[in-house]
Amino acid sequence: MAQGSAKIRIAHAEPLGQGARLLRVERVDGAELGFAGGQYVIINTGVTLPGGKLAKRAYSMLSSDAEQRAVEIAVKRIGAGPGSNVLNDIAVGAELEWSGPWGKLRLPPGFSGRALVIATDTGITAALGIARSAAAAGAAQLDLLWLVEPGETFVSEAFVRERLPAAVRLTVAGDFLPVGHPERPARACALVGDHVAAGPYDAALCAGDGAVIYPVRDRLASLGAPEGSVLLESFFNNPMKKSL
Ligand SMILES: Cc1cc2nc3c(=O)[nH]c(=O)nc-3n(C[C@H](O)[C@H](O)[C@H](O)COP(=O)(O)OP(=O)(O)OC[C@H]3O[C@@H](n4cnc5c(N)ncnc54)[C@H](O)[C@@H]3O)c2cc1C
Repeated sequence: MAQGSAKIRIAHAEPLGQGARLLRVERVDGAELGFAGGQYVIINTGVTLPGGKLAKRAYSMLSSDAEQRAVEIAVKRIGAGPGSNVLNDIAVGAELEWSGPWGKLRLPPGFSGRALVIATDTGITAALGIARSAAAAGAAQLDLLWLVEPGETFVSEAFVRERLPAAVRLTVAGDFLPVGHPERPARACALVGDHVAAGPYDAALCAGDGAVIYPVRDRLASLGAPEGSVLLESFFNNPMKKSL
């Protein structure tokens, strides 16, 4: 399936803790999305922003790429943010538009090495997508490190564990510092350093807080990660650009 925009329908929705929602989304024409685990779609929420632009927001698929006709996303309500509020309130059966799949955060087909997936906060969606992907099934080892602050009301640890293949080793650092804390990057780098001390990885894939994952990439490089072996997807605080 070529990338492009398509009409989509909200096929199913359920609440996740407080202030977040799991959505099953499908194309109205019944076509496959053609994504690989770790990729995302951009949903046109239909909301016109004060400057006149439409609010289009990115969401990573957390479902397995074995199923291409209906995909699952989880959306955390962010304050009065236009996109996340529309998707938390939208009725089942409603139609919107998306484009995609987009993104390079994915394991290469046929991957057979050791991979480390690092997620902060809502970045766990992309991490789940990677861990559940066809490409991950051939990995010799897949470790997932989730850095999340106490009391996070997005998806629960049980939600994540239920969806992970048995071979994936999950470590949850559930006492991580809150978003915006100045010591977040240093704490993350220390945790990642402990992980890597157990042995080298052939690939590392990081998703979530841009203020954290860019320093983590530098730390992995200083620990010997080969050039190009660390992939990043910044969900927010992207130091390279303004948010979508
Ligand atoms: C590749 C990619 C994949 C993404 N996947 C998901 C996903 O699976 N689930 C999901 O809920 N969101 C995801 N996001 C974030 C999403 O695109 C929106 O930024 C978010 O829903 C807020 O949009 P909004 O219009 O409600 O608020 P806005 O007014 O656009 O956002 C308000 C501010 O909150 C920031 N923000 C976004 N997420 C967080 C967060 N978790 N913690 C703190 N601040 C945040 C935004 O960058 C912005 O500065 C992803 C973003 C990217 C770039």
